[in-house]
Amino acid sequence: MADVVVVGSGPNGLAAAVIMARAGLGVEVYEAEATAGGGARTAESTIPGYRHDVCAGAHPMALASPVFRAFDLTAHGVELLAPEISYAHPLDGGVAALAWRDLDRTVEGLGRDGRAWRAMFEPLVRHWPDVVDIAMSDLRRVPSGPTTAIRFGLRVLEQGSPLWGVRFREQLAPALLTGVAAHAIVRPRAITAAGAAMLLGTLAHTGGWVIPRGGSQVIPDALIAELERLGGRVHTGCRVDSLDEFVPTRSDTPCAVLLDLAPAELLRIAEYRLPVRYADRLRRFRYGGAACKVDFALSGPVPWRAQGCAAAGTLHLIGTRTEAMVAERVVAVGRHAERPYVLAIQPGVVDPTRAPAGGHTFYTYAHVPNGSARDVSAEVITQIERFAPGFADLIVAVNVRTAAEMSTHNANHVGGDISAGAMNLRQFAFRPVARWNPYATPIPGVYLCSSATPPGPGVHGMNGLYAAGHALRDRFAIDIDPLELLRRPIPRLP
Ligand SMILES: Cc1cc2nc3c(=O)[nH]c(=O)nc-3n(C[C@H](O)[C@H](O)[C@H](O)COP(=O)(O)OP(=O)(O)OC[C@H]3O[C@@H](n4cnc5c(N)ncnc54)[C@H](O)[C@@H]3O)c2cc1C
Repeated sequence: MADVVVVGSGPNGLAAAVIMARAGLGVEVYEAEATAGGGARTAESTIPGYRHDVCAGAHPMALASPVFRAFDLTAHGVELLAPEISYAHPLDGGVAALAWRDLDRTVEGLGRDGRAWRAMFEPLVRHWPDVVDIAMSDLRRVPSGPTTAIRFGLRVLEQGSPLWGVRFREQLAPALLTGVAAHAIVRPRAITAAGAAMLLGTLAHTGGWVIPRGGSQVIPDALIAELERLGGRVHTGCRVDSLDEFVPTRSDTPCAVLLDLAPAELLRIAEYRLPVRYADRLRRFRYGGAACKVDFALSGPVPWRAQGCAAAGTLHLIGTRTEAMVAERVVAVGRHAERPYVLAIQPGVVDPTRAPAGGHTFYTYAHVPNGSARDVSAEVITQIERFAPGFADLIVAVNVRTAAEMSTHNANHVGGDISAGAMNLRQFAFRPVARWNPYATPIPGVYLCSSATPPGPGVHGMNGLYAAGHALRDRFAIDIDPLELLRRPIPRLP
């Protein structure tokens, strides 16, 4: 048997696998689906030649993540392309707020609120590594930059409270900020939504909301290539239904199992081995707002009415802050919004390889209630047409995945929850349960490494890093900073 078994080949499972392999351990990864990569897969899901990102499409977190910076994605052949405009937020009347990578250009476009935007983001942008250190930590240590931590915290408190409008006087800037906050799929004026807005908003003005050339799949592919180079293997089409075949029978056996799984899947495969109290707490873990994914193959670029939108990698299609608030509240109480929040990505802005010449892929998802089986592609098209009249005429093919269908492509997306667990305040801090070490399970040698642990969702590999660190220390008495293992150039195996 391998020293280490990883169940699930998402970015966290693969990051953990590479760290363990770099420590000299034998690693086998088991993946339920036919292809590896979890939430970072790319597939020709509309028509041949059109490559669509199945889940994650924009990667500010991968670019900034300590894991991927240490691993050096670029050195492993991954090209992360930065649109000049990280994200755009069109409003009715042909205007749009634009978050340029360049903070000054952003400020210029926000009229009377430009100064307020600068005051909010400039100190964070200047100290962005400290912002990343706070937002991507395991929440169990003191942040490395206390001043930035205080600044970050104050802004989060402000944007997560009734004071969220005090610094703005016009419509563009608050709408621009709310579009980012909504990524958390909780009420936009919630602490965790504000935290997402501060992190992603900062990254928009640093490295940018990058898009990988060729599709998100290149990120897991780079990790898999490294794992295989070190002698590890990924077995696709292997759904694990019971932990029995992996869990060591003797507690002194130097073996670790890392689960890139949501709590629901941990319960499914191992409930009978878990103490009743822990299992009960996992059952109380809540799954949250979900997405209906709608991918389009287009015969041309989207005819945006507002200037600037054509150059943006990502767009938030909802309208004003008030409209976003209403739509997200409706979803939060389990109903469908008439005009839902739509997140769109146009990879063709920087990556011509996604579609045959002249064609384009267009990525969208709309927020819907957990478990929704409704195809909301008509509402998505209406929302796009609102800001880009003529869009519907360009559609060559559409692929829809309802929230209810999400878990048939990835068991971690319970009811279509794209965060592997609601991002409310309690579940942000105590993910999946309240424990000092949230990665270790009560089963000796078995660890959770998925985004259902801190620091939560996103393609950044940090959950995998923290889980791997605990497993190395506890199971193999290897007390090395796992980031050092990723940084260290490892000679090719004979
Ligand atoms: C629609 C959508 C859009 C998103 N957009 C973005 C974005 O733009 N940017 C961003 O950074 N993040 C985005 N995310 C979030 C991101 O994809 C996830 O947070 C990230 O992939 C989590 O990584 P992970 O390794 O924890 O789990 P996952 O990537 O979910 O991987 C888990 C893996 O485990 C496998 N598995 C589950 N059960 C079993 C089993 N029993 N046996 C074997 N294998 C099993 C699954 O098939 C899957 O491959 C998005 C997610 C979705 C769904």
